[in-house]
Amino acid sequence: MALTRLVARRGSSRPVRLDFSGIALDLTFTNRFTAELPADPETENRRRQVHNALFSRVAPATTSSPELVAFSQEMADELGIADLHDGEFLAVFSGNAVLADMDPYAMCYGGHQFGNWAGQLGDGRAMALGEVLTPQGGHQTLQLKGAGPTPYSRSADGMAVLRSSIREFLCSEAMHHLGVPTTRALSLVTTGDKVVRDMFYDGNAAPEPGAVVCRVAPSFVRFGSFELPASRGETETLKALADFTIRHDFSELDGANNPTSDTYAAWFSEVARRTAVMIIDWMRVGFVHGVMNTDNMSILGLTIDYGPYGWVDNFDPGWTPNTTDSQHRRYRFGNQAQMAYWNLAQLGNAIVPLVDDVEPLQAALDRFIEEYSTGHRTMMLNKLGLDPDRDLDDADELIQGLFSVLQSIETDFTIFFRRLADINAGSQAMSDDELVHAIADAHYEPSAATPEIKLEIATWIRRWLDELADDSRPDDERRAAMNATNPKYVIRNYLAQLAIDNSEAGDHTMVRDLLQVLRRPYDEQPEHEEWAQKRPDWARSRPGCSMLSCSS
Ligand code: AMP
Ligand code: MG
Repeated sequence: MALTRLVARRGSSRPVRLDFSGIALDLTFTNRFTAELPADPETENRRRQVHNALFSRVAPATTSSPELVAFSQEMADELGIADLHDGEFLAVFSGNAVLADMDPYAMCYGGHQFGNWAGQLGDGRAMALGEVLTPQGGHQTLQLKGAGPTPYSRSADGMAVLRSSIREFLCSEAMHHLGVPTTRALSLVTTGDKVVRDMFYDGNAAPEPGAVVCRVAPSFVRFGSFELPASRGETETLKALADFTIRHDFSELDGANNPTSDTYAAWFSEVARRTAVMIIDWMRVGFVHGVMNTDNMSILGLTIDYGPYGWVDNFDPGWTPNTTDSQHRRYRFGNQAQMAYWNLAQLGNAIVPLVDDVEPLQAALDRFIEEYSTGHRTMMLNKLGLDPDRDLDDADELIQGLFSVLQSIETDFTIFFRRLADINAGSQAMSDDELVHAIADAHYEPSAATPEIKLEIATWIRRWLDELADDSRPDDERRAAMNATNPKYVIRNYLAQLAIDNSEAGDHTMVRDLLQVLRRPYDEQPEHEEWAQKRPDWARSRPGCSMLSCSS
């Protein structure tokens, strides 16, 4: 069904200029979430606890002068949206207009935050517009983030600032192009309204430009979506959501249309498997989520809720970008698999009322550990250009040796693997100095390499060359394989911050240019060599470039 009609937004306080001229939004809405699941009967937009329901119907707030900053062409194509410059697009994706067949809602969920049960959280500043049937027959939910308060906004305003919206928009798309499971972003618009934030939590609140990102995913259901009804003993609601999720998003499971205890266990096992795959990818590209609370864990195993995330510049398993977590570093780079396991255990606990026996849930958790460690080894061997299928007894030792080398001196995680790939298999004859020099571009302070450090690095490279010697692939082929798994371009924290600085000054060129470069993260793009460089010294301790607050 073609939809070009716009309806006046409920609760709109300003007239909205609508453009009916185009056929831009030719979308078919299915809205299965709101059609099939229990709704909050109350429709007034006031903060409250919501029981026995999975969502509340809401309407986006009006914005004064929306402007399109950037959009993802691939996402628009997948959704079948033809013209993003049309006024209609801007009205809808800023929240100023709601299409007739949309059914906007905020989800009700809870979560464990930093290890503690936090009770009801919910979509406090996100609202789904509805679910779209794509031209390829897939289902995608469109969700606005920063489009105003909902019943779940608690003491906050439901808005988002431009800096955090740029970070979410760019990183979602960058992750997609890196091949990491993620929610997507369709558009980024500024609202023309100011949003007040105390960025450093130091009493200096200031107005910042407001923005709205349209996020896209087949489902925005989180681990915390199951935890909340379970914590309240609302087993019917819990079962309704589990059955809905299995029926639509895990339809390949036996009994998906009429789940039994075995179906729930198999589903949990699949969620655990997907979560392991996602974390392995994070470790591959050097991504630190920063806030792995259970409300930020997608039931589909997608990276979700880009807040104070960061990319490791120099390899450091102890690093976290999130200032709120700086004391305990619960969500540090090297702890992400453990935290995923902990979160899965909370999900497992939540679904206990649905199974006859907890043993299969425990077995799935055990399998997560196995799958993660096997998958992580395979991923690391791929990064090193070694065949993960061959018998490599001491692969773990090689990998541990690598981690030690990467920490012996500040080493850029991204650049290291690109330089390593350039070394030819028959390089044993090179001197230690020459071997170290071959990767020294990755060192933040090459002069800090003492003779002991150089010896450790060269010894490890020789060990790696020994392994390569067993590989029958020609160098070019092996190099291409390595470069297809080791990105050249990632959204380094300082790059995102530079784009933010420019955008806040009114120039969105860098956001758009970065998006273009990050669409091909594994390719050499000589014209953008400067964005593949290691973090400059000025960015080492600048807020936004090394540490981020949750304020967004
Ligand atoms: P996060 O850590 O960003 O995933 O957010 C945790 C919870 O706080 C979620 O329920 C969010 O919806 C809510 N939240 C965060 N920021 C805001 C805001 N500006 N207004 C309303 N709710 C918010
Ligand atoms: Mg969240």
